[in-house]
Amino acid sequence: MSDRKVRVRFAPSPTGPLHMGGVRTALFNYLFAKKHGGDFILRIEDTDQNRFVPGAEEYIIESLNWCGLTPVEGPGMGGNYGPYRQSERKELYKKYADQLVESGWAYYAFDTPQEIETLRNAAELKGETFSYGISTRNDLNNSLRLPENEVQQKIDAGEAFVIRFKMPEDLEVTEEDLIRGSVTFNTTKSLDDKVLFKSDGMPTYHLANVVDDHLMKITHVIRGEEWLPSMPLHVLLYRAFGWEDTKPRFAHLPLILKPVGKGKLSKRDGDKMGFPVFPLLWTDPETGDISRGYREDGYFPEAFLNLLALLGWNPGTEQEFFNLDELSKLFSLERVVKSGSRFDPEKAKWFNKHYFQQKSTEELSKLFKPVLSEKGIEAPDEKIRAVVAEIKERCEFVNDLWEQGSYFFVAPESYDEKTVSKRWTQETPGQINAIAGVFENVKNWKAESIKEAFSAFMNEKGWGFGAIMNPLRLSLVGGNLGPDLFVICELLGKEETISRIQTALQKIG
Ligand code: GLU
Repeated sequence: MSDRKVRVRFAPSPTGPLHMGGVRTALFNYLFAKKHGGDFILRIEDTDQNRFVPGAEEYIIESLNWCGLTPVEGPGMGGNYGPYRQSERKELYKKYADQLVESGWAYYAFDTPQEIETLRNAAELKGETFSYGISTRNDLNNSLRLPENEVQQKIDAGEAFVIRFKMPEDLEVTEEDLIRGSVTFNTTKSLDDKVLFKSDGMPTYHLANVVDDHLMKITHVIRGEEWLPSMPLHVLLYRAFGWEDTKPRFAHLPLILKPVGKGKLSKRDGDKMGFPVFPLLWTDPETGDISRGYREDGYFPEAFLNLLALLGWNPGTEQEFFNLDELSKLFSLERVVKSGSRFDPEKAKWFNKHYFQQKSTEELSKLFKPVLSEKGIEAPDEKIRAVVAEIKERCEFVNDLWEQGSYFFVAPESYDEKTVSKRWTQETPGQINAIAGVFENVKNWKAESIKEAFSAFMNEKGWGFGAIMNPLRLSLVGGNLGPDLFVICELLGKEETISRIQTALQKIG
């Protein structure tokens, strides 16, 4: 590594909600910066005005905040290399495009979108694909072909133009990718003359990305595999600008694959199989469509980050649980794999369960309280804590606390039919009515003493425990579930316990 301070950037385009793969890119950038005592920067790449989606930038920033991946520089965060939103840097790109035209690395092209479309269609009819480049550019409407004065006239007359990169002919471009090793591209075979500067006065992704990485002193470009084909153009742009000495190193991260089948993980997989692919809930501003988010689905950010870290990176040991600090110490690009990593939604839940179980009863109670309030339930903190302590072991998510423990707060409205037909006999009403009477006389309403009074009475009567306990549980919770019956009685309170028995007697008969 050179002696420059490590500076990496996460450079999303605000074209919609951030995919979990994007969060992983941010995470790996963040970890790399931390590991090397460097800077993690957020840059918003919003030069494509047609694809701009309102709210997407805010969504990106909120997602990073939720995960604790806080940039040191970025929009609204300050920093010495701003602005960090490319649309606000608009004015500065033109001179770089001009510089390339002057040095012969780029040229003006006046072909209208309709003309290009016609060429494209014509090629298609012949079973070919049109590409603006080495084999076609000399016949087209550009400054390579037109006389200089004509070019100037067109520009002076305000004719629309783009600036294209002049891809050198038959050049082997080799670059070392920190994950993939040496990668070679042949310019004639695989590269066309990409537009660098558009007729709307905006740079394209390629120009803005390279210029900004240079101006922002970025040392490492860590991004998704889908950008690998752009690497040779970017490498050539560094050459064309004469910036090779400070060219960043590149690392292209492997894809995150579907849980089953081929291809990369998409929103559709999530919809089909019932898991989120976005960090936060997203409402499409145009259609109103809602996409679920990890946060709203009840995942802890620690769990989300942990599962993302292991999609593509491995520590080389058996360890599976890592917090952000540990990851920051252990992370290295050498341990990022080349091949795609399959996402496993079950494993995601398993991670959440781990972090859920790690939380104290106190913390979980605080998280459970709003769930209760939403249902219109106000309960004393002490009771919430006691309930959480009893049932947390069976839960993976905060919402499970409600599924597993709602009966502590609301009386059952119905009774599990199977249990009724199996356990509710002719003798039951008389028996549990008698138990209600015993409960009436328990002075110290604690599980221990309730149990004592109950057992003494049962021994006296010679009734079988199973014959009483099951219908009693059914009366209190509506089914065959829950922890120790006497603990349930204690937490419900004496009055409620007896009232539930009476309701069951009325309803079941
Ligand atoms: N704006 C690109 C994106 O949306 C950034 C790619 C890069 O990191 O160079 O992913």
